[in-house]
Amino acid sequence: MPKATSTTNRADWRALPARQQPTYRNSKLVAAVVCELQERAPLVPVAEIKRLRRKLAKVAEGKAFILQAGDCAEMFNTPLSRLTNLIKVMLQMTIILMYGGRMEIVKLVRGAGQYAKPRSSDIDELDLKSYRGDLVNHNRPTKRARRHDPRRMLRAYNASAKTLAKIRELTTGGMADLRRIHQWNLDFVQSSAPGHRFQELADNVEHFLDFMEACGVNVRGMSALKVAEMFVSHEGLVLEYEDALVRDDYATSGHFVWIGERTRHLLEAHVDFFRHLRNPVGVKIGPKTTIEEIKAYCRILNPQNTPGKLVFISRMGASEVRTKLSPLMRAAQETSCPVIWICDPMHGNTFSHNGYKTRSMDVIKNEIEGFFEVCAELGVHPGGVHLELTGDDVTECLGGHTDEVTAERLKHQYETACDPRLNGSQALEVAFFVAGLLQRLHRGEFAIAA
Ligand code: PEP
Ligand code: MN
Repeated sequence: MPKATSTTNRADWRALPARQQPTYRNSKLVAAVVCELQERAPLVPVAEIKRLRRKLAKVAEGKAFILQAGDCAEMFNTPLSRLTNLIKVMLQMTIILMYGGRMEIVKLVRGAGQYAKPRSSDIDELDLKSYRGDLVNHNRPTKRARRHDPRRMLRAYNASAKTLAKIRELTTGGMADLRRIHQWNLDFVQSSAPGHRFQELADNVEHFLDFMEACGVNVRGMSALKVAEMFVSHEGLVLEYEDALVRDDYATSGHFVWIGERTRHLLEAHVDFFRHLRNPVGVKIGPKTTIEEIKAYCRILNPQNTPGKLVFISRMGASEVRTKLSPLMRAAQETSCPVIWICDPMHGNTFSHNGYKTRSMDVIKNEIEGFFEVCAELGVHPGGVHLELTGDDVTECLGGHTDEVTAERLKHQYETACDPRLNGSQALEVAFFVAGLLQRLHRGEFAIAA
């Protein structure tokens, strides 16, 4: 078997072990679906992927910050109104982060393709095949629904196209205009403490825009204030699907794709497939990652040392981030590879309460703060945050400003198809928290505080 480090052909991943892949029964049907996908238009244009890479180069230089956010698992039938809520919350978070960090915020939706999930077991508690995301099977707990169906890859393409079209409409069609900032605050968020805080911020922004108009600056005419640019991202998990959408060595299933914690093995199919992509790519970095692996990812996934090409998504867990992250960051510093480090404070902090998977706000914040401390200690730019959240009023994560989600309330609006997400007001609260950290960084206070 060839070594991942010595392969040269994009198709070589097929000869390597691939974890977390669907098991299809009808190979002719798989081939027909792949053929059909190969004929389809790219979901995202290559020019936009290149544009994102340039924006990420700014992050690598320490001059911008990434907000990557969205569902753990999207579903085909989610109403578009939910997407509107997500985009509104991301716009709010962007303003909060820009205000605190005084930096450009690169916005990556975790969506328009986030339809495949790695699972810890092939079988669930009912002895059925596990749900692996809408791209693979159906969530309904029946034998038939859980069958892996290759035609779902076409539905994933269609659902991604629909989501992308809606994101474009929302971000360029007037709603993202800074003059409409007050309309982004969703009803249920408005009444929460972070909602009030956002209202005050929005008043200040509006005041400032009026002030600029009074100075004779035509703020209303500035296109930069009328639209928001959002890129889309997902875990590149099902290789048959990803491969079928590669055009000129770009994955066109989304602007940014990442390798998950469960599939990042050096000599296996995912790393080999990703090494041939020209997109900016991510790798989830858990506490078991070794120094050798970090150095190998740099070498294999960014051999030209291109700024903005490689993002390490740290997901250590709050209890380990302060001890496990710094040797790995140091290892990356020892290479000449300009990597970006961002913090996923969700996946290392999941636990179950009365059968509900959950995460607590305090622990999430603690991991983000630990991440900033380690970055400050090593002189690394904290490049962004990666969050699972929704604009909706769900009760999936515990805590919040007003202790609004208690353990007893988890069952009230627990809607996620996979992992627990922050609700709209928890999302704003995390954004204010990160903005505070960015402000401390900006003032040069961080290293001292740490
Ligand atoms: C995820 O991002 O939903 C996920 C499964 O994360 P990880 O690969 O970090 O466990
Ligand atoms: Mn998840």
